[in-house]
Amino acid sequence: MTIGILREPTSESRVSLIPEHIAVLKKQNIHVLAEHNCGSLAFASDSLYSEQGAELSSRENVLKNSDILLSIHPISNEDLNHVKKDAVVLGVYNPLANFELIKEWAGKGLTTFSMDMLPRTTRAQSMDILSSQANIAGYKAVLLAAMQLPKYFPMFMTAAGSIAPAKVMILGAGVAGLQAIATAKRLGAVVEVFDTRPAVKEEVMSLGAKFIEVEGALDASKAGGYAVDQTEEYKQKQQQRIAEVAAKADVIITTAQIPGKKAPILLPDSILDSMKTGSLIIDLASATGGNTTQTKDRETVVYKNVTIIGNSNLQGTMPSDASKLYGKNILNFLQLIFGAEGQINLNFEDDLVKGTCITYNGEVCNARVKELL
Ligand code: NAD
Repeated sequence: MTIGILREPTSESRVSLIPEHIAVLKKQNIHVLAEHNCGSLAFASDSLYSEQGAELSSRENVLKNSDILLSIHPISNEDLNHVKKDAVVLGVYNPLANFELIKEWAGKGLTTFSMDMLPRTTRAQSMDILSSQANIAGYKAVLLAAMQLPKYFPMFMTAAGSIAPAKVMILGAGVAGLQAIATAKRLGAVVEVFDTRPAVKEEVMSLGAKFIEVEGALDASKAGGYAVDQTEEYKQKQQQRIAEVAAKADVIITTAQIPGKKAPILLPDSILDSMKTGSLIIDLASATGGNTTQTKDRETVVYKNVTIIGNSNLQGTMPSDASKLYGKNILNFLQLIFGAEGQINLNFEDDLVKGTCITYNGEVCNARVKELL
């Protein structure tokens, strides 16, 4: 069996497997084809890939000769003309938003696995690319804020006077939010946190942050751990509480997302208008519209007194470790679809295989995606 590693579009610095991952596949008698320069932006050179036993080749050859194709971003229509008829493609394809693309891939007979659809169960943790990448984004969001803020994060008592610690608000205490709390606390900030899932209150408090309470949230326990859309009354109460904290904040980091939907607006103009001069927002939900009314994805916007940095790909600013963790997640997942003799063996009784598989046998097979067709 041959696995191909594709070079990502130029806007992406990560790669789906780094050289140290190749050895594991070689031990399983799997041939690895790597597109020239696939890892160069992640500091993994072609020579490192070949030292580990990968064969370097052109994109066309990788597409034509691989049984499993690995890429983080979707391959192009042009690429599709070269791919083997029954190839498996595995990456992060956001099928709940990209279902036109997914239908096309089904029509071409591809078997598609989208790692962002992996059920968030305990067994899945070692394959969970959303977690490994969000962890980096949360960490980098705080470092970016500390670099941009015209103030200190920690409290200081010096001969030249006292400095109060920075006030940081974090909206959304999922994987990125929790890492942002831990990082901001390590830098000495005072941190307040809001999430619609009351279940995260304990985790937030155990990291030393204060949880902003809003009563009346809808029960999200049946939504696989994700947030659900809330009632209008709740949203109003929530906005009032967020407004109070935002008016005093130096930094706000927003991470709130709802799978398959536009990100909720948590900071409308009325709240942005009340924020302090020189305050800063890092919006990690910018790819799905952002949590403020003024966010622009991959852009820095100055709105009145506030700087808003929209970036959903902060993991890409740390491509070495981001690729190392992403690749390890992929290696772990691949073991689920390998048979004993190193061939592809899909077991749809396995909830992780079933939940992640999007197209198979010429059809869209994923229940969550089919609901949208
Ligand atoms: P996410 O990126 O989808 O969302 C980030 C956070 O924003 C979530 O905590 C969500 O509740 C919150 N949010 C959504 N709407 C909001 C609003 N209007 N106001 C404030 N906050 C809002 O989340 P994620 O980090 O991918 O985590 C999703 C879930 O999966 C969590 O329950 C997490 O604990 C769980 N999880 C499980 C595993 C596992 O067991 N394998 C691994 C990672 C995460």
